[in-house]
Amino acid sequence: MSFRIGYGYDVHQLAEGEDLVIGGLVVPHTKGSVGHSDADVLLHVMCDAMLGALALGDIGTHFPDTDPAYKGIDSKILLKRTWDLVQSKGWTLSNMDTTVCLQQPKLKPHISAMRACVADILGVDVDRIGIKATTTEKLGFVGTEEGISAHAVVLLEKAS
Ligand code: MG
Repeated sequence: MSFRIGYGYDVHQLAEGEDLVIGGLVVPHTKGSVGHSDADVLLHVMCDAMLGALALGDIGTHFPDTDPAYKGIDSKILLKRTWDLVQSKGWTLSNMDTTVCLQQPKLKPHISAMRACVADILGVDVDRIGIKATTTEKLGFVGTEEGISAHAVVLLEKAS
């Protein structure tokens, strides 16, 4: 068996009048994330971690934010396309683990639905998908609610 590990990190600004899309869900809140796509920071780091594992560049390489085709696009489509690319090269998912950094709202009530959403897109068991959330104790751009960030690590495997 061969293994590849990948890592992803992403940040989006928060602003009023935008949807807060995280893990494929719209989380009710007074602010949302700003971006060329639907600005789903969690799905973006999952894409980046998968691409990074195979040294295939990053999400901006594959889905440029200068391309009108990706304006407002549902990031579930980006994750599915990334996953299709990974699978086309013979790799499967061992597991992924992620952390969303957001001061508020609390994400705990939404985590299980996010995990189910991602597992459904990838066609894997939900126990392979880790999603956690943390505040930054009111420190930094996350703490002041100017932004949201996320981290992901992915382990891919392939029979060899
Ligand atoms: Mg992003």
